[in-house]
Amino acid sequence: MESLRGRLGGDGRVASACSGRYKNDREASMFDVNFDLLRHGFTGLVMVTARASGHVARGPRGNRNRSNPMRLVGVLSILLSATPALAQEADLVLRGGKVVTVDGSGTIAEAVAVVGNHIAAVGSTEAIETYIGPGTRIVELNGRTLLPGFIDAHNHVEGSATGHFFRLPVAVPPLETADDVLAVVRKRANELPPGTWIEGQGTYYQPMPTREQLDTAVPDHPVVIRWSAHDVIANSKAMEMSGIDRNTPDPAGGHIERGPDGEPTGIFRDARQLLDLPQPSYEDKLRAIPPTLRELWLENGVTSVYTMDTLEGVRALQELRRRGELPPVRLSISFMLRDFDLDALVSTGIQTGFGDNWLKIGAIKILFDGVWGTTAATYEPHYGTTDNYGNLSRTGEQLREEVLKAHAAGWQIWIHCNGPRAQDLALDAFEAALERYPRSDHRHRIEHFANFHVDDKILDRMERLGVIPVPQASFIWRTTDELLDQEGRPRLYILRTLIERGFRPPGNADSVGTQPFSINPMFSFTRAVLRTSKFGSEVDPDEAISVMDAIRMHTIWAARSGFEEDIKGSLEPGKLADMVVLSKDPLSVSPEDLMSIQAMMTIVDGRIVFERN
Ligand SMILES: [Zn+2]
Repeated sequence: MESLRGRLGGDGRVASACSGRYKNDREASMFDVNFDLLRHGFTGLVMVTARASGHVARGPRGNRNRSNPMRLVGVLSILLSATPALAQEADLVLRGGKVVTVDGSGTIAEAVAVVGNHIAAVGSTEAIETYIGPGTRIVELNGRTLLPGFIDAHNHVEGSATGHFFRLPVAVPPLETADDVLAVVRKRANELPPGTWIEGQGTYYQPMPTREQLDTAVPDHPVVIRWSAHDVIANSKAMEMSGIDRNTPDPAGGHIERGPDGEPTGIFRDARQLLDLPQPSYEDKLRAIPPTLRELWLENGVTSVYTMDTLEGVRALQELRRRGELPPVRLSISFMLRDFDLDALVSTGIQTGFGDNWLKIGAIKILFDGVWGTTAATYEPHYGTTDNYGNLSRTGEQLREEVLKAHAAGWQIWIHCNGPRAQDLALDAFEAALERYPRSDHRHRIEHFANFHVDDKILDRMERLGVIPVPQASFIWRTTDELLDQEGRPRLYILRTLIERGFRPPGNADSVGTQPFSINPMFSFTRAVLRTSKFGSEVDPDEAISVMDAIRMHTIWAARSGFEEDIKGSLEPGKLADMVVLSKDPLSVSPEDLMSIQAMMTIVDGRIVFERN
């Protein structure tokens, strides 16, 4: 840990946080940015500075000029102080802080000038003051840290909203035991007429009452409680009302757990769709989404979310935007393949990237296997079983056809794969598609890759094919001691290995409704740096990464994983003015204190959209 922190340069001024082992962070052409600046009526001076910064940031691939991290700041301040009269008046200036730009050179600056919705300049406070005019709003940072707005590169806005608003919270912690869960459910049942569904939201691997206990405590209400989006437990009333009994077959890709007598135990793994749980209505979603976006994302400094929702959820986003009720969070929407017919979608000619900077089309997401321990597709039987190799939602052949179609039609593709067998088949599919239709900059992704790592050969294939791994650092928190103690277990959340090999994994919370608290990027930072589980154990601590890399994951690398690094993910001239002011500097506090850091101000599109009192 010492060496990791040593690298971060805690003197609060200018530090080179760039280790030099990353491949080119900034593939964006700064010349595009220059056109943008021209459109915004910038002066020749700013164009010069933008070009200068582009020169510093670009460099040849893998051979970045890192001899002088002061260079960008130096260029800016010299040019700006030499000819102050040419600077355009900024709409917003933030000054006197530690500005972690996350640019390719690891520049730390002091101030930022914003014109319209774009960053006009980054530099010393003195240099940026030349942008201040009578109409400029000034934010005094008073030494606080300014970062690019965080990007959550894999989450579910609709699922989070319904979880946040409509499910009975029964998470342990804050509850302590299965009896506590039972008491909360019983209390709710007493308030509702018999036959009314109760849906509870717990969290991963928490103690839960059995079906029998639920039956005794709440015999007349159908009850379903989630550990996660994958695993739920239902009472007998819920199964009865859903027409489920011992003869109900397992659904494709899922599993109804059964006891020795063949009766369902009440536990459904990737099979909750069999339960006739009433879903929140469209109107419910319209009501729940805006406050959820504000409370869970904006108030934590997250300014962009790559979201996967149902088609109805997407329609709700459209409606909210039309009404002007969508909070100022930039959304990129990826479509889950189970929700639509692929041929119909690709025949429309719609492609990844369509839309604008507020709402755009992301990827096609394919849910291929399940979760580790039960339904992830493996080569070895899951621990404690002799014949459970997990489940696949489709055959490798089907996946290949789908990937080929989506790839040929110009889509980015994300495939959910927790197990190595699923990962190999996904890579087979990507490989076949890339052979047939070569595309150097496809940025296809494997979601959950590196959470459970079994075989380095798969890493080699990922690297060769240029597929982006999307691990979830926040899930380190839920690692059980049971898993840690298993002989021959996979290596867990191999973040350091990924980064050392040149991958740029995007940060994300993938919290759905299960871990809403983990949407705060400081939660992921803490897990990525400290590697501790909620049970107090260390999870492969040699895979810890630096706070600076955790910041990169949640900014520039996330942007890159969504083809957006030319417009966001770092504080550089020409990029969108999406920023967060933090209460403390994550690069200076002890890792144990990361969770005490709060977003004090969130700025999106050059506007202050959240301010903490
Ligand atoms: Zn997800």
